[in-house]
Amino acid sequence: MKDFSGKVAVVTGAGSGIGEAIAERLWAGGAHVVLADIDEGRARAVAARIDSKGASTLALTADVSDAKAVEEMVAHTLRRFGALHLAINNAGFPGQREVSTGAYALDEWRRVLATNLDGIFHGLRFEIPAIQASGGGAILNMSSVAGLVGVEGEPAYVAAKHGIIGLTRAAALEYAAKGIRVNAIAPGFIATPEILAASEEERAALAALHPMNRLGEPREVAELAAFLLSDKAAFITGSVHVIDGGYSAR
Ligand code: NAD
Repeated sequence: MKDFSGKVAVVTGAGSGIGEAIAERLWAGGAHVVLADIDEGRARAVAARIDSKGASTLALTADVSDAKAVEEMVAHTLRRFGALHLAINNAGFPGQREVSTGAYALDEWRRVLATNLDGIFHGLRFEIPAIQASGGGAILNMSSVAGLVGVEGEPAYVAAKHGIIGLTRAAALEYAAKGIRVNAIAPGFIATPEILAASEEERAALAALHPMNRLGEPREVAELAAFLLSDKAAFITGSVHVIDGGYSAR
């Protein structure tokens, strides 16, 4: 299980859901983990839960839509742990739902793209030089099945999640021979706090979108992330890894 000993990882959106599960898995694997979130209280609570001594975690406030904040997140990581090897650009949110493109609010489009797509670019922009200076590593960007197929009523989220896949492929090509692997994960609906807070009926309807007729678990996504970030995945770059109970096979 100690497959990440000696590695330093940064996880954005680590204060909840999938990011929390990935941070916990990497920490259990022996990594030093920086938990970044727009909500500092959340990041701190997760860090305290998984590492009560605080010796190998650092909780930071960082809004990934703000390039300066992401630059500082990486700088703070280097000051605290002296290197960066693994980065998981996970922070995101769906924004307004059930609003068609012809009626979608212009400022909502900007708000959703700013975190879900600009945020991934900001991560890559500052993580890549730090990972190169640390001798190489791997990056994961969190897309979604909404990055592979259209979903009605959430055009900005769908565009951002498709854009993440293009950006992942472009960066992967640029750094394939330079010691940095870059991949994307595309989950179906995962049982994260927001989804668990929905009514039983709504959850059943979401589960039914998947041929397995259930939601995914954050720890299932974290296991895929751990594999892709590990040396076992040394020949994997520039690809999208679907974890969706069959959702996108239909
Ligand atoms: P979540 O809401 O449980 O956690 C997201 C975390 O990101 C929160 O702690 C939030 O405070 C933080 N965050 C939001 N905006 C931020 C910003 N600008 N800067 C830094 N942190 C920010 O969500 P989740 O379901 O775990 O989602 C994590 C990622 O997985 C997202 O990119 C999401 O689009 C993607 N995803 C989720 C699902 C799902 O079903 N839950 C499915 C596919 C993809």
